[in-house]
Amino acid sequence: MDIETLLKLQEEDRLLRSLKHESMVVLPARRNDAKKRLAMAQEAVKKAEAANIAAENEYKRFQHDYTLSHQKMRRAEQNASYWSSSRSVNAAQAEYTTASANAAQAEASAARAAQNLTPTERRLSAAQAFEAEEAAAVQKILDDLNARKESLEAEITRVQERVNALAETIEPTLLNYYIRVTMTRWPCIVELNRDTSVCSGCDMAQPVSVKQALIAEEKNPSGTLIYCPSCGRILY
Ligand SMILES: [Zn+2]
Repeated sequence: MDIETLLKLQEEDRLLRSLKHESMVVLPARRNDAKKRLAMAQEAVKKAEAANIAAENEYKRFQHDYTLSHQKMRRAEQNASYWSSSRSVNAAQAEYTTASANAAQAEASAARAAQNLTPTERRLSAAQAFEAEEAAAVQKILDDLNARKESLEAEITRVQERVNALAETIEPTLLNYYIRVTMTRWPCIVELNRDTSVCSGCDMAQPVSVKQALIAEEKNPSGTLIYCPSCGRILY
């Protein structure tokens, strides 16, 4: 068997492996990263929305307190004008003073809460703008990934066809041996270092006879393949 054909097969296989790796490992990982990126922007919007709603609720609560205190003040005023005894009038006046103080406090709190509303609104609209940017950027990435996936699939089909054509020219037992070895040891066809006699597949120094057999085959090709005694790879 001609080692050149085997090496050609291995080169096509190498290309096929790298294309499949990109298609099945790299692209899905990049797709996940892109989706995570969008999910983070969406999460930020949710948080900003929640903060804004909390600020709005706080503002409403203080406004409600203010309204209640004013109602109490009006009731106290009415009580003071109805009742004749000085004790009742005094009680109504005390009630009025308390309600008035509460109203002032609620008003101040409402004003503070209203001020807080603006920053949360600003943060919310910033988060929403960022989310829109991220959505567009991520969509672009996903489109590119889909396009890459499509061209990869086409390329894989083409290389697979070349692999199949090459495989047809190789004796079945040898082809099966090649396939079996590549499942656990890649690459299957490796160089034997001519100086050190080390197999570059398993990094083990081999007997000189292995090197001599290789050199003899190079000088007078007989179609005999030389295998690494340690790892079983085909040597060249
Ligand atoms: Zn070896």
